[in-house]
Amino acid sequence: MKQLYIDFDGVILDTISKTYEEMDKLGIDIKDEKKVMDYYCNVDWKKLIEETEEINDSINEIKKICASKKFNVYILTHVNSINEMIEKIKYLHKKLPQVTVVSVPKEIPKTDVVNASGAILIDDYSGNIKQWQKKLGIGIKFVKELENKDLPEITHLSEVIDLFNQ
Ligand SMILES: [Mg+2]
Repeated sequence: MKQLYIDFDGVILDTISKTYEEMDKLGIDIKDEKKVMDYYCNVDWKKLIEETEEINDSINEIKKICASKKFNVYILTHVNSINEMIEKIKYLHKKLPQVTVVSVPKEIPKTDVVNASGAILIDDYSGNIKQWQKKLGIGIKFVKELENKDLPEITHLSEVIDLFNQ
């Protein structure tokens, strides 16, 4: 079975759009890195997760991937705070009890925490995909709608089943 790592923010839940909306309401300039970092370190993740939409039926899509029995599935997510880590784990443990959650401190690349070689990463951030490919991993960019950029793209997580159907 192949190792399959799935990102959280911008792939499972639309926390990126939600937090940008919230920062806009609070008058935080998203170009101000320090203020944005402070916001992410202090935001109430329990409330944020409750109020944020799933992207393209992500939880059911991951259930389909697990049911295919082709992958060892992990959620691989960057975190800015212990509160963020705890609330993401609680949410995922409830929705996807069969899946392992790997939390990575924001300051460290995902490839420093897990072995990318030969493993698949689905992530919405091109920077993470490129780092993954450098470590000989297979990177797939998650997009809400097809963008046709230079990276392989999917809009629904279960598409990965057919991509590796051999
Ligand atoms: Mg992401």
